[in-house]
Amino acid sequence: MTGRVHVIGAGLAGLSAAVSLVRAGRPVTVYEAAGHAGGRCRSFFDEVLGRRIDNGNHLLLSGNEDTRAYLEAIGATDRLCGPEHAEFPFLDLESGERWTVRPGAGRVPWWILSAARRIPGSRLSEYLRALRLARAGGDATVAQCLDGGGVLFRRFWEPLAVAALNTAADEGAASLLWPVVRETFGRGEAACRPRIANPGLSECFVDPALRLLETAGATVRFRSRLRAVTFGGDGIAALAFAGGETVRLGAGDRAILAVPPAAAALLPGLETPRGSRAIVNGHFLVGRIGEHPFFLGLVGGLCQWLFVRGDVASVTVSAADSLAEEGSDAIATRMWREITRALGLEGQPLPAFRIVKEKRATFAQTPAETRRRPGFRTPWSNLLLAGDWTDTGLPATIEGSVRSGRTAAAAIVADSISS
Ligand SMILES: Cc1cc2nc3c(=O)[nH]c(=O)nc-3n(C[C@H](O)[C@H](O)[C@H](O)COP(=O)(O)OP(=O)(O)OC[C@H]3O[C@@H](n4cnc5c(N)ncnc54)[C@H](O)[C@@H]3O)c2cc1C
Repeated sequence: MTGRVHVIGAGLAGLSAAVSLVRAGRPVTVYEAAGHAGGRCRSFFDEVLGRRIDNGNHLLLSGNEDTRAYLEAIGATDRLCGPEHAEFPFLDLESGERWTVRPGAGRVPWWILSAARRIPGSRLSEYLRALRLARAGGDATVAQCLDGGGVLFRRFWEPLAVAALNTAADEGAASLLWPVVRETFGRGEAACRPRIANPGLSECFVDPALRLLETAGATVRFRSRLRAVTFGGDGIAALAFAGGETVRLGAGDRAILAVPPAAAALLPGLETPRGSRAIVNGHFLVGRIGEHPFFLGLVGGLCQWLFVRGDVASVTVSAADSLAEEGSDAIATRMWREITRALGLEGQPLPAFRIVKEKRATFAQTPAETRRRPGFRTPWSNLLLAGDWTDTGLPATIEGSVRSGRTAAAAIVADSISS
């Protein structure tokens, strides 16, 4: 049977599910609580800066295959930009040293044998320690696996892990970092080229998807917050939305709940990750500097990544729960000190800025919370889950959320063929 699929949540997980389903010829309705799509991955016009900015810097890698397939489906592959070859420039804010990590072409990282290509101060033996990640058990943290007290951990593994897991390395799950390394750095240079949405997240991931859905006849209903689910037989019977509307599911209908874990509490007994971690981004109007867009990894300070697009410099602090409690002016002052050092703007006064605090940016990707991720199937036969917090095998990232949506959609299509 090929009934309608009701997708709740228009973040990237919901959008990728909806896109896959309309491409498979399924009628789809998307319900989104907010007045816009994109969820935690979106752009907006900021009145203070007078610019359109992203809620936060998002970095992808060329080996993110599900994201690439999604962008191909929505006709937006040209909206990701980045260097022709994999290169990751870094600055140590304490020592002032700068270096660029340039992984080699093959799967075997022969480049680490060359002292000139290794990260300054790192030893070959530290790189070999990375093999421990592949064998990490479910309880191991990133620091337990990789921190041998050497320079490589501080200058590469820690920034990578905090960015990928949004969780401090001493509590982040090593088992979640390994798939990132395996699917990107582990496949050689071509799979780990850094990629940034250009001009912004919504123009890349969201707006083209909404256009495709509209063209395909799908309905996207904004300001439609799911507030209750009613159950009947072995499935769900109806979806009740704030405002009083109730949508009953017909015999062949399916639903995909693509909302954050807190909203998934609408399902009784569903175990989900409970803890979350914040990400704080600061956007500063700096004027035009250098080649655009570009990004820089920062170690030894507060900020972890610096992106420059147009005349806006944006810095990211992940695993930022305590920082998120500070006032925006104090955060901006601290960030600006580091930005001026990184961009050679010392002495310049603090320009117009916007601090964006995403207090629940992702679930806390610790070993304990990782074990609480549910799969995409639920005990209800006509209801599936999607979202970066479901058990995708990946960290809570764009690649994970897109994959989760595609997985749920593929299961619905496969079920309808076999029934
Ligand atoms: C600041 C920041 C920086 C990040 N950086 C990176 C990065 O560099 N690289 C990377 O790959 N990933 C990054 N991420 C993670 C990435 O943004 C997320 O993994 C992804 O956007 C999650 O998508 P989702 O669809 O799973 O969830 P969401 O985006 O949360 O989507 C859920 C949607 O459901 C809606 N909703 C909630 N409740 C209801 C309800 N009751 N009824 C209807 N709708 C509802 C919400 O409004 C939302 O639109 C970052 C995230 C943040 C916040």
